Amino acid sequence: MTTATIPSPTRTMTYLPALKKTDPKIRDLILQEEKREFEKLRLIPSENYASHAVKEATGGIFTNKYSEGYPNKRYYEGQQLTDQVESLAQERAKEIFGADHVNVQPHSGSPANMASFRAVLKPGDTIMGLSLPHGGHLTHGWKANFSGSLYNSVPYELDPETEMLNYDMILKQAREFKPQLIIAGYTAYPRKIDWTKFREICDDVGAKFHADTSHITGLIAGGEHANPFPISDIGITTTHKTLRGPRGAMILCKEENAEVVNKAIIPGIQGGPHIHTISAIAVALQEATTPEFKTYAQQVVKNAKALAERLLSHGFRLVTGGTDNHLILMEVFESKGIPGREASKSLDKAGIVCNCNMVPFDKRTPFNPSGIRIGTPSMSSRGMKETEMEKLGDWINEAISNAEDETVLARIAGEVKSMCIQFPAPGIDPANWNE
Ligand SMILES: *Cc1c(COP(=O)(O)O)cnc(C)c1O
Repeated sequence: MTTATIPSPTRTMTYLPALKKTDPKIRDLILQEEKREFEKLRLIPSENYASHAVKEATGGIFTNKYSEGYPNKRYYEGQQLTDQVESLAQERAKEIFGADHVNVQPHSGSPANMASFRAVLKPGDTIMGLSLPHGGHLTHGWKANFSGSLYNSVPYELDPETEMLNYDMILKQAREFKPQLIIAGYTAYPRKIDWTKFREICDDVGAKFHADTSHITGLIAGGEHANPFPISDIGITTTHKTLRGPRGAMILCKEENAEVVNKAIIPGIQGGPHIHTISAIAVALQEATTPEFKTYAQQVVKNAKALAERLLSHGFRLVTGGTDNHLILMEVFESKGIPGREASKSLDKAGIVCNCNMVPFDKRTPFNPSGIRIGTPSMSSRGMKETEMEKLGDWINEAISNAEDETVLARIAGEVKSMCIQFPAPGIDPANWNE
C-alpha cells in the first residue's frame, strides 16, 4: 500500500514569507501601513481595526472560487463549501438584525445602494435622502453620483436652528414631492435616528423606507443604537465600519423584496460574489455577538461623549452641540479661523488622523470645507477610554492652535506614538516587524 506523502509545513519565523520572496516592495508597504496604523490615533469614523480572524478569512482560499448565483442555485459546479459559507453569513445577519432576507454579495456600500435602488425603483423615480453637505452619502442622491442622475433626487436638509433631523420638515417635503423612496442613515450625523418616525413619514406618503446603517451597524449590533431592519422595507450596511468586518456590504430587506434584491445584484449589477470576503463577513458577524463586542460598542459612545466634552471645554463649536453616537462633527473655520483641510493636514502631522468635512449650511466647498470629522471606533477597538480621550482633546486643541508650527506638531506626534504603542491593535502584531 502506498501512502501519499503530505509534505510537512515548512516552519519559518518570517512574517509574510511568500510576499518576501515574490514582491518585497508590496510587503514593505504592508509593514509600513501596519506601523502607521499602530502608532497613530486613527479618528476617521468609517475606519476600524479588523481582527486577525477577519483578516485570515479575507486572505483565504475562497478567493479562488467563482460562484455566480446563490446557495443551491449556482451557475458553476464545485459549490459544496461556498453554499455553506454564504448561508452562514446570511443566517447570522438575519439573526442579529431581524431582517427577513439578507444578500451578502455587494462588493461594497455604494454598489449595495445601487442594487437596492435598482431593486425597488425605476429610473426617473423620486428619491429623498439627506443632502451630502448635511451629512448624507454620495449615493443618497448627490447630483454627480448615479443616484442623482438616474433618479429624481429631492434631498432633505437638517433644521437650520438645531442642525438635527426635523421630522416635521421631512414629512412636509415628502408630502410635496411624493417620493417613491426615502433614505435614512448617514455618514456625518452625530445624533440618533428615529426610525419609527421615518416609517410613519413613508407610510403617510406611500414611499418605501430605505435604511442605510453603514456607519452605525456596530452600534446597532452592540445595542447602542436602535435597529431599523425589522421595520424598513429595504436597506444596506457596509461591513467594515463600526461592525469591524472586511470591506463589503449587505442588503437587508423584507421577504417581499427578496427576489428583486437578488436579481438586482446578479444579473443586475454584479457577476461573481467575493466568497472570501463573505466568509470574513460571517466571522465579523460571529464576533459581533460576543460580550466583548457589546463592551466595545458601549465604549465607542462613551468615548465620543468624553472627547466632545473636552473639545467643548477648549472652545470648539460642535455641530448639534455634541454627539450621541460614534462621531463628532467640528466646525473649525468660523470658530478658529482655520479651514477644515488645513486643520486635518496639521493633525495628520501630529499623528492624529481625521478627515475634513462639510458642516450643515457650509459656505465653503466639499474639497475645502469648514469642519473636520472625528470618530472613536478605532480607538475604542484598541481599548482606549475616557482618560485617553481627554488627552486627545488637548492634543487636538494644541495642534490646531499651532497648525503651522512643525516643531509643536512633531512633538505631539511623538507623544501620540508613546501612548498608542501601549494599546494593542486588533489584527496587528508588532513582534512581526522584528525580522
Ligand atoms: C460608507 C457609506 C457608504 C458607501 O460605502 P463604500 O463601501 O465606501 O462604497 C454608503 N452609505 C453610507 C451611509 C456610508 O457611510
